[in-house]
Amino acid sequence: MSVSLPVTIDDIEVAARRISGRVLTTPLAMSGSLSELCGVPVGLKLEHHQTTGSFKLRGATNAVLSLSAGDRALGVIAASTGNHGRALAHAAKAEGSVATICMSHLVPVNKVSEIRRLGANVRIVGNSQDEAQEEVERLVAENGLVMVPPFDHRAIVAGQGTLGLEVVAQMPDVAMVLVPVSGGGLAAGVAAAVKARRPATRVIGLTMERGAAMKASFAAGGPALVDEQPSLADSLGGGIGLDNRVTFRMCRELLDDIILLTEAEIAAGMRHAYAEEREIVEGAGAVGISALLAGKIKDIDGPIAVIISGRNVDMDLHLRVMNGETDPFREEAA
Ligand SMILES: *Cc1c(COP(=O)(O)O)cnc(C)c1O
Repeated sequence: MSVSLPVTIDDIEVAARRISGRVLTTPLAMSGSLSELCGVPVGLKLEHHQTTGSFKLRGATNAVLSLSAGDRALGVIAASTGNHGRALAHAAKAEGSVATICMSHLVPVNKVSEIRRLGANVRIVGNSQDEAQEEVERLVAENGLVMVPPFDHRAIVAGQGTLGLEVVAQMPDVAMVLVPVSGGGLAAGVAAAVKARRPATRVIGLTMERGAAMKASFAAGGPALVDEQPSLADSLGGGIGLDNRVTFRMCRELLDDIILLTEAEIAAGMRHAYAEEREIVEGAGAVGISALLAGKIKDIDGPIAVIISGRNVDMDLHLRVMNGETDPFREEAA
């Protein structure tokens, strides 16, 4: 590769050794219906079966294990209420550290109790995610807690990259990898691993039309702000950070394209996962299936690996989507 990127295949191999035995090696299962639809073998990387329900445990575990013993004793901190918060809570507890997760008063009680159950110290402050983030910064400054961000961090990207190593080992002739993109930690890590091992393999990012921050940033030539709207793919929400240092450069260099999906397409992907593959998948995790079903993946010329990134969907919402609702957030988004 001509330019040197913040995370290399060596970093990802070190991460794989470090987190081995602490995260699951998830299966890659062939999908009969999608293989038939596409005319090539299609494998689903069932990462939603990962402990805590998403790939985020890989990065969080690598980040916690990369800390000095002293920093680990001080504890780690983040403001995420979603899959990163869960993963960091679990990883910290597993390694004898403690995670503090800051969230606002608006976060539903069930999310608060889940993160507590995973062993984190929960701090509820203010009425917005921004106020929760201010609390994080205060605790970092005053108590020395170590902030572990959800994507823009070398140890996080290297940890997520271990998923790419598994895909190539499980499907050695893979011609294309479909990967969900939000802040880009997953896509950057996976693409770095896959392209190091199989330079000709295409890696395509997928995200929702409602708030495609990485795609907008590609177009702007640097980190761009996007309007946030509620989506079925809630784990893909949020920006990439205006001071992005790691993932923007890597995604721009390594991804072959980013494709956008509508709410109806995301819903169809979740329904296919359930009805045809017997898998409960959250919206963000289904976007690869969605893109194939929608015919948005062009120039198919060999086996495809689809990364199913998570399963943490509210079960009432899942039921509504299974019953045919295509855009439960239409009113709010209008
Ligand atoms: C966080 C997350 C993503 C996006 O990962 P980024 O590293 O932010 O791009 C995709 N799917 C699920 C289920 C997630 O939790």
